[in-house]
Amino acid sequence: MAQRLVRRLCMHCKKPYTPLPKEVPADFPFMRMMEERIDVFAPGGCRDCRGTGFSGRVALYELLVADEEIRLLAAQRRQAQIIKDAARKAGMKTLRENGWRKVLSGVTSIDEVVRVAKTD
Ligand SMILES: [Zn+2]
Repeated sequence: MAQRLVRRLCMHCKKPYTPLPKEVPADFPFMRMMEERIDVFAPGGCRDCRGTGFSGRVALYELLVADEEIRLLAAQRRQAQIIKDAARKAGMKTLRENGWRKVLSGVTSIDEVVRVAKTD
């Protein structure tokens, strides 16, 4: 299991906005955001968060459940990327994907996910 911490947006001053396609990473679920009319938030800054726009942290997880295929690949000492691809096919959500879920639920910002989780 991998884990990264992102900063949690301050609920008192986070600002909703609709990013443009060119402003978001290619793997960001932009279509879902548009179709479901979900607001994405940017940090503001207020007295509660001492002007930072953030308050506390929240963890992103990437949980690899080793099924038979993955155990076999690991036993063969295959490249991490090959194992990761197999795990994603088996339904694993990556750090980035879990990060985007937290962006769409208003917990953190796009920049925070980009900062802690590299492209898969
Ligand atoms: Zn604030």
